[in-house]
Amino acid sequence: SMAVFKLENVEDLYEIGEVLGSGHFGEVREVRERATGTRWAGKFLKLRKCAASRLGMDRRAVEREVEILQALQHPSIMAIRDVFESRAEVVLVVELILGGELFDFIAAKESLLEEDAIGFLKQILEGLSYMHDKHIAHFDLKPENIMLSAKDVPQPSIKIIDFGLAQRLSPAEEYRSMGGTPQYIAPEVINNEPLSVASDMWSIGVITYILLSGASPFQGDTDEETLRNIIGMNYTFEDRYFRDTSEIAKDFIKKLLVKEQSERMTADECLLHPWIKPLTRKQAASRSRSSINIRNFKRFNAKRKWKMSYNMVWACTRFSRLQLLCKDRANEDQELRQCESDQEDSESNRAALIRRRRLSST
Ligand code: ATP
Repeated sequence: SMAVFKLENVEDLYEIGEVLGSGHFGEVREVRERATGTRWAGKFLKLRKCAASRLGMDRRAVEREVEILQALQHPSIMAIRDVFESRAEVVLVVELILGGELFDFIAAKESLLEEDAIGFLKQILEGLSYMHDKHIAHFDLKPENIMLSAKDVPQPSIKIIDFGLAQRLSPAEEYRSMGGTPQYIAPEVINNEPLSVASDMWSIGVITYILLSGASPFQGDTDEETLRNIIGMNYTFEDRYFRDTSEIAKDFIKKLLVKEQSERMTADECLLHPWIKPLTRKQAASRSRSSINIRNFKRFNAKRKWKMSYNMVWACTRFSRLQLLCKDRANEDQELRQCESDQEDSESNRAALIRRRRLSST
């Protein structure tokens, strides 16, 4: 099906406001609907001018993202309102999400009970259950794509964003991809095996692990090491990070970080797991007695934010120049050594693909 985008000028109907964020292919800005005064977000995507160009998005990819967003109407998923198209760009008018990232919201707290973390997780799972029922997989679940509806409200709600890698899966066709961010990708992605909605559930396992401990289960010093840890299922619950974690929470994670896709918990099964939906009073009590490792979580999040801003700089700089910069700095500062692997997070898919192929053949 060919998506039909409005050919009018977006500015005729919406007043364009300030920049809210930016991604690989353009900016997200606040916009105001002239007719009603309603505020939305406008995602401005640069279109690729010729097939060979590396700049801009392929129109088919934009169509897929739009088609998927239009199919999803759920409180935990960013809603889409309108789509405009000009020669050079497509503008998605979407729900305005002002609460920032869930991880930043949590990092600002002094403490958090598992029970409170579960409240958010449950909303994520409800959104995923809804998507997965429609055979739509997100394929890029990570902290940057899990936002909150609003600031300064007592109970902000979850909004899943960025459906740039999402796919509608068909039982008749296998789907493989090398996309995603090393820390959060499932073994089948690295092994170039057929993917399924279960690949999202792996990412939920990683996100939950981090949420509770501030430690990342497979993170190595380099991307190669991270990927090798994932394939080798090389993770543990280190006591120094999981001192205050309930056993039932660890059980939940263990049932997601499972190599075999068919044996991983589904979103629906997660919602019925006793950590999320306690059956006994004892199970309920353990959730309100256990807390997340907020000190280490703050540390994780600060590092994550630092890497994100570093990646942003990198994305605007030539690879070779920054590679040198990285090497110089790395000699001076241990912490900055990270950047060599972080810069690879934002490397082109092609390079990542070659790297992973090499890896999977060893
Ligand atoms: P990436 O390059 O990470 O794939 P992208 O180009 O697909 O990104 P998004 O991740 O959708 O773009 O958005 C980029 C940033 O803009 C987000 O990280 C977020 O800060 C902000 N943003 C996205 N959608 C909204 C929204 N609906 N309301 C407010 N801010 C938003």
